[in-house]
Amino acid sequence: MAEHESLEFGKADFVLLDSVSLEEFMANLKLRFEKGRIYTYIGEVVVSVNPYRAMNIYGRDTIEQYKGRELYERPPHLFAIADAAYKAMKRRNKDTCIVISGESGAGKTEASKYIMQYIAAITNPGQRAEVERVKNMLLKSNCVLEAFGNAKTNRNDNSSRFGKYMDINFDFKGDPIGGHINNYLLEKSRVIFQQEGERSFHSFYQVCVCVSVSIDALIVLLIHSVPSFSPPQSSINDGADFKAVADAMKVIGFTPDEIQTVYKVLATILHLNSKVVAVIGVLLATKEENVGKALLYRTVATGRDVIDKQHTTQEASYGRDALAKAMYERMFCWIVGRINDVIEVKNYDAKVHGKNTVIGVLDIYGFEIFQNNSFEQFCINYCNEKLQQLFIQLVLRQEQEEYQREGIPWKHIDYFNNQIIVDLVELQHKGIFSVLDEACMTVGKVTDEVFLQGLNSKLAKHAHYTSRKLSPTDKSLEFDRDFRIRSNPVLKMMWPEGKLSITEVTKRPLTAATLFKNSMIALVENLACKEPYYVRCIKPNDVKSPLLFEYERCRHQVEYLGLLENVRVRRAGFANRQEYPRFLQRYKMISEFTWPNHDLPSDKEAVKRLVQGCGFEHDVAYGKTKVFVRTPRTLFCLEEQRDEMV
Ligand code: ADP
Ligand code: MG
Repeated sequence: MAEHESLEFGKADFVLLDSVSLEEFMANLKLRFEKGRIYTYIGEVVVSVNPYRAMNIYGRDTIEQYKGRELYERPPHLFAIADAAYKAMKRRNKDTCIVISGESGAGKTEASKYIMQYIAAITNPGQRAEVERVKNMLLKSNCVLEAFGNAKTNRNDNSSRFGKYMDINFDFKGDPIGGHINNYLLEKSRVIFQQEGERSFHSFYQVCVCVSVSIDALIVLLIHSVPSFSPPQSSINDGADFKAVADAMKVIGFTPDEIQTVYKVLATILHLNSKVVAVIGVLLATKEENVGKALLYRTVATGRDVIDKQHTTQEASYGRDALAKAMYERMFCWIVGRINDVIEVKNYDAKVHGKNTVIGVLDIYGFEIFQNNSFEQFCINYCNEKLQQLFIQLVLRQEQEEYQREGIPWKHIDYFNNQIIVDLVELQHKGIFSVLDEACMTVGKVTDEVFLQGLNSKLAKHAHYTSRKLSPTDKSLEFDRDFRIRSNPVLKMMWPEGKLSITEVTKRPLTAATLFKNSMIALVENLACKEPYYVRCIKPNDVKSPLLFEYERCRHQVEYLGLLENVRVRRAGFANRQEYPRFLQRYKMISEFTWPNHDLPSDKEAVKRLVQGCGFEHDVAYGKTKVFVRTPRTLFCLEEQRDEMV
């Protein structure tokens, strides 16, 4: 308890800094990291620094310490945030969400898993079998998703290459009864290309080292005949992971046929990458010439005529790559869909009658800036601008609304509102996405030049737009080619339209950009109606070292995550608010006026007396139903005095 104020470990809440400056912030972050204190609050936000070593702080005993406690009663921890989100959901019947952000390797996915484990550990005290089944499914689904959606990168041996939002549904008792997963923007380019030292998705390596017993002999043969695919050395145990994933898929309820088909698709993609067209014919049970045709020709619409035109070699290899990417993406989405089939709340009664509340957990890629940035970085960074906008709206809106309701005066505080950036990207007709869509609509070849001209003509005047000179790049064209899938029923589920198409064929196809934009708008709308909790993850160094706090590297993250602004906003308001009876219940023992009972006309009056007695009145405001405490220090002092009494 005394840790809150112990200088040895730095400040447990950045709001307690003597002055809010970048230097002070960084010094505190560094000190705490070096003392093994990886979590620090900014009010109700948890800032986390990846320790890159096993920490003995996630066990059963720690869970017990946080269960049902208030945030400020224990040292900062993910469990405290998870518990706060859970309590708000259970006590106040609110949908809540936990938004985890940070760059690749910062610890988001680990955090989301600890949060899930915590929630699993504190629920279902009655050991109901159905609830246990649901919990097991929710935890198992991770294993499958990671096999197909994660890869070894230079930043992270187990890097998620997709964004994930998971809803957990709870019944009136506060026990999990189901869930739903939304996935965002899988980095499908990884299927065909990896940087030096990186790998494709785990699933490919797993299937390659698999023991043959669980896979059809023919598929095994075909996998092992892939000429150019030998897994590089790595610390990852693909063989063991293969078994774990196969097991998890079985538990979740994938049928043997479905599992075999997944292997077939993986084998197909491996072969696509090695250009063996005939093998693909066997695997997908389609005619060899169809595969060849799909890869070597494209359909060109000229007026009303549709003609087949042969690709150049380069075009053909683009087409092949596009097909491999599209197949993997489609399979991934299908897997997510199958998991959802199993974990979604089925019970009609539970949905309609019982109280059904939700905790959402968002584990999504943070800002990324590389030497060369592609469309994927653009989408990822746009996503982060959207989330930042949501943060601004929710945190400030919530604060302001509560102060108004309680009749507490509130002065406006300045912050950079990034709505203007969001608009630059997503506005209808004049945003970057719209310009891109238009460029894609252009008859003839879509080129970077057309796109750049569009940007320059539409956005030149925008304060945050800087025109770039075009650097010579390869243009990634995607072709509308397809071939029919014949007899495999599972493949038909993955491709319900009955055709394996490289890009979706509709009259005005929605571009990848528009699809992503729409999914982000939907995500933000969904989060906006929930009570948010935030985890901000920081990566201390680029060499996965538990000892190294690279100052510049961390400072950069603190800046773009807007953490300092966050502290300022938080300090302008009140760190804590509690209803009068609850406050009294907790602290009445520290004042002679309130212990064991008070004879004042109201709890509000009693709280006033108690606060005066402690000498904190300058730091407190009295609302209609709640007492507002400005700084956490006051709260920690109250806690300490309480500790001395009990
Ligand atoms: P992200 O999802 O942000 O890309 P991960 O959650 O996958 O990052 O974390 C990357 C690696 O960092 C993990 O594989 C693990 O080795 C280490 N790590 C992250 N968080 C923790 C933690 N709380 N304790 C110990 N190691 C961690
Ligand atoms: Mg991750």
